[in-house]
Amino acid sequence: MTALVGVEEHLAHILGHVRALPSETLDVERAHGRTLAEPLRARVDIPVFDNSAMDGFAVHFADVRSASPEAPVRLRVVADLPAGTSADPAIGAGEAARIMTGSPVPSATDVIVPFEDTAGGLEDSLGEIVVLRAPRAAGTHVRLRGVDAVVGDVLLSAGHVLRARQLAAAAAAGIAAVVVAERPRVAVVSTGSELVRPGEPLAHGQIPESNSELLAGLVVEAGGEVVLRRTVPDDGDGPLRAIADAIALGAHAVVYSGGVSAGAYEVVKSTLGGLMGFRSVAMQPGKPQGFGTTPEGVLLFGLPGNPVSAAVSFEVFVRPALLALQGRSTLDRPTLRLPASTAWRTPPHRRQYLPAAIDRSDPAGWTVAPATSGGSGSHLPGSLARADAYAVVPADVDAVAPGDLVDVLLITMEG
Ligand code: AMP
Ligand code: MG
Repeated sequence: MTALVGVEEHLAHILGHVRALPSETLDVERAHGRTLAEPLRARVDIPVFDNSAMDGFAVHFADVRSASPEAPVRLRVVADLPAGTSADPAIGAGEAARIMTGSPVPSATDVIVPFEDTAGGLEDSLGEIVVLRAPRAAGTHVRLRGVDAVVGDVLLSAGHVLRARQLAAAAAAGIAAVVVAERPRVAVVSTGSELVRPGEPLAHGQIPESNSELLAGLVVEAGGEVVLRRTVPDDGDGPLRAIADAIALGAHAVVYSGGVSAGAYEVVKSTLGGLMGFRSVAMQPGKPQGFGTTPEGVLLFGLPGNPVSAAVSFEVFVRPALLALQGRSTLDRPTLRLPASTAWRTPPHRRQYLPAAIDRSDPAGWTVAPATSGGSGSHLPGSLARADAYAVVPADVDAVAPGDLVDVLLITMEG
């Protein structure tokens, strides 16, 4: 038996070959899913100016501090401030400006009285008003300039991925363009003479090809772009020719599935032996792994063909590499430790990555169970659709019992 390589050792070997991709400047509206290559710095203050948190009146606190239903305070409305106004009217003692939420608070005033604290409310808001309740303190309902961020503040450091909330923060801080890593360009190559396009009639011995769907989708979910997707048979030099085509398309990585284990027709192993090393990694599924680089520096991943093996292998080895290419600060998924709700067996001497489903029916008591219906299930891609996690069981544990705490990788969340 060949010696097994540890998961961390194989991953470190791969990451040792990753060189961060160059950066590019993109309009914020085109940057969703990209990784920041430079910190995001505010270009305007948030809020941009002192503004009202309520529809009501900007007034002098000194005028209204004693207002009550028994001792109402009368003020004269001398200005009207809709959103977008550039006015900063002078407001004297005994005067008020009608103001809408988000409008600039006049520099002469220091508090907002909402409509509901006046006798006339919105209906009677442009002549004289009657204040029935005193604000708690000066500054009440005034949103101060710069409390969220001031010009030059780092909203997010390099290495973070930009999604909706981050891009909205950038826009709010007046940022029109961001410096981000290029997207990794990836070729996805399935190998196997039994594979047929999904939906085509199947002769005996043929199966629908599904790994390219899986791996192409996972590439995109990891921030990459699929530049080539093809299936090659178990004879010929298809895997080698795919490299030339991938390079012509500017690929940074080629992800193969199938043809790397110990069978008779292992086309990745037989055609790419000069470029890739093949190892047995102490994990299940995913034991046979190929990895190498071309002289141009293109990363070559040879994943086992069983769909669940391919999915787990991508998660453990390819995804971190694609994130590292983008300079992501976190390569790991978040993990939780959850009690198992059922028993399952685990392989001896190898770390198990079991597609698992989290039962969230009790929000304070999540549990985890295999998503697969039978055995270790590496050949059961249907169950993969129900998985939202991988249960990770150490090599020295040979069975999981109900109630045992298990590490769970949350594969629908980024770290
Ligand atoms: P291999 O690693 O090539 O020995 O493949 C292992 C198993 O995975 C075999 O049952 C293959 O038919 C299956 N398999 C390999 N590649 C794919 C693919 N692209 N789509 C679906 N099944 C595959
Ligand atoms: Mg095969």
